Order: sequence, then structure tokens, then C-alpha cells
Amino acid sequence: MQKELLIKPLNGNDKAKLNGNGYSYEKINGFETLGDHHVGTSAETPLRFDAFEKSDDEKISLIEDKFRDIMEVIGLDLTDDSLQGTPHRVAKMFVKEIFYGLNPANKPKISVFDNKFKYNEMLLERDINMNSFCEHHFLPIVGKAHVAYIPSGQVIGLSKINRIVDYFARRPQVQERLTMQIANELKKVLKTDDVAVLIDAKHMCVSCRGIGDESSTTLTAEYCGRFKDRAVREEFLKYIGL
Ligand SMILES: [Zn+2]
Repeated sequence: MQKELLIKPLNGNDKAKLNGNGYSYEKINGFETLGDHHVGTSAETPLRFDAFEKSDDEKISLIEDKFRDIMEVIGLDLTDDSLQGTPHRVAKMFVKEIFYGLNPANKPKISVFDNKFKYNEMLLERDINMNSFCEHHFLPIVGKAHVAYIPSGQVIGLSKINRIVDYFARRPQVQERLTMQIANELKKVLKTDDVAVLIDAKHMCVSCRGIGDESSTTLTAEYCGRFKDRAVREEFLKYIGL
């Protein structure tokens, strides 16, 4: 279980080893290396093995100190009424809200039901609100996710699909990885390969800085199982109006 190994705190039996730069894992015993540049060797978010040794409160307090330093370095006067509370506010927002999805303890509990109706056509949940954050600039990625599956034996409560999207979105992300993580989780939960995920999102790092393009959006799609068939994929795209 690759994911479990990567997130487990280091103990005597763990096979993960921290490299010199403190961020890379070495491959021992069959789980994938996450390279020095964190480029996607897998769909996993590159996490340190000690990512969850500190409590949320400890993290908030550390981030608060470091964010105060950043504000002071850019020249802000932290004695000003309006700025005083910002370091704590930002730290709490990082840990409890916008990056809560890094911690597997926060993963939504998903229950599935037997497909009693024998419904075996496509089920599509479209226009799911998605707020994520680009891991290269820590700026918002805002858009919609469209998720479809063809039930095998199991179905899922509809709002659980929104929760799965939200959980994986609330991390520093790249849109490609986010798309794959949502699809992989649904395949696991629903015990079927017949899953499709399409995300259409606006990256603030493209609109607010850099090239400054206000209008472009980015589309990423993951088609698995029967969604690789052209007819099924076209039905999916027709439903979401693409
Ligand atoms: Zn970016």
C-alpha cells in the first residue's frame, strides 16, 4: 500500500529514508521514488514521511511565526491593528481549511450501497464546485469538476462525490494530479474501473500574475474503463455540454 507507507511516521521498521534535502524518498521494497523535483512519478502528493508527526496546533503555531517573518520582510508593520491577527489567521487557514486534504485523517468516510435498482447506465455529477491551490505559486485554482461512473455492484451517496473532490482539492496541487487522484479514489471506493473525471478550472497564477491571461481555463480529464470507448466518452461530454 504505497500511500500508507509514504505517510506513516518513521519508526524502526519503516523503509522510507529522508535524503539530504529533506524531501525525497528512496525506493526500497517496491514503492515509488518521489524525485528531487517532485515531478509526478505517481499520482501521489509528494509528502514527507514525517508529515503528520506534529499536531495541527503545533503546525499552526510554527506557520504563524514564519508567516509573521514573511510579512515583516516585505516591510509590513505588524503592530497595526489590521495586520496583527493576520499571521495566526493565515496559519489556521492553511492547516484547517485550504490544506486540510493533505492529512489522511481528514479523508471523508465513504459508505457505498448495493446497487439494488440494477441501474447500470452512466451516473454523472456535474458542475461540482472546486477550490484548490497551485503548488507552484500557492494561488487559487477555481473551477468545476464533472465526475461520472457506471455502477457495478455498488453505488455511492451523491454528496460523497463532492466530498471526495473537495478533499483532494484542498492541498497544494497540480490540476493533472488532482484529476487522477479523484478518479483513483472513486475506482477504489466503487470497485469499478468505469470512472471519468473532467476538471475545468481557472488558475490565478495565470490570470493575476505572469502572463496575466484573464480568460483562459485549463481542462484535464481522466477516462478509465468503459470511458475509454469513444461512444461512452462522447455521451459523457455531451451531458456536460462539451
Ligand atoms: Zn501556479
